[in-house]
Amino acid sequence: MQNVWSKVDQYLIDALIPQDAVLEAVLENNQRAGLPAIDVAANQGQLLALLVRISGATRILEIGTLGGYSTIWMARELPASGRLITLEADEHHAHVARQNLRLAGVEGRVEVIEGPALASLSALGEIAPFDIIFIDADKPNNPNYLQWALHYSHPGTLIIGDNVVREGKVTDPDCDDERVQGVREFISLMGNNPRLTVTALQTVGVKGWDGFTLARVNA
Ligand code: SAM
Repeated sequence: MQNVWSKVDQYLIDALIPQDAVLEAVLENNQRAGLPAIDVAANQGQLLALLVRISGATRILEIGTLGGYSTIWMARELPASGRLITLEADEHHAHVARQNLRLAGVEGRVEVIEGPALASLSALGEIAPFDIIFIDADKPNNPNYLQWALHYSHPGTLIIGDNVVREGKVTDPDCDDERVQGVREFISLMGNNPRLTVTALQTVGVKGWDGFTLARVNA
């Protein structure tokens, strides 16, 4: 099935997403620097960009930068006065991301904060609340990231969680993969929180079988 999923994804990307030399160069930089190719796909990046545009977000928090590919998709939609904070634990990833952000010309709107996200999050009180929070780092910490996301939200904030289907393993309550258990608790916490209107969609494509959650913080 992966062949068909990739073929359809490539068809959709070719048909719908304008070719972008900068974003292609970013992915090449990531590969050259030895980063894993676990960034969002181009059509997912465009979805993030659309969410920023539709919501009129001006303050964005991203947890999990890698090489800044998803960061650039979102940052490009920000007004000049907008701000995106992205948290990355790995020094090398953060270094490559900063280079890529400069290449994309969005370094003035984006701050990469290096270090474990849980340590960085407590210092963001002055910048919060955020309009969009994209959670895409270590999945065992997703429940903790959700608590911070709620803390730093306002009515209308969108909280997006990536990689929540994990090739279907998310349905297994006995799965011994702590990433799966982190995602299961994340989903359960969101489903039981009356402050959130939330859905999740499973996706197939160039990145395999996975999915994302999309939640809106209620008044
Ligand atoms: N959002 C990126 C994109 O689509 O281009 C992909 C992010 S990648 C899936 C996850 C990133 O989270 C990796 O770069 C990893 O080093 C980082 N990460 C893992 N654990 C972390 C932690 N505790 N705090 C901050 N970042 C972490």
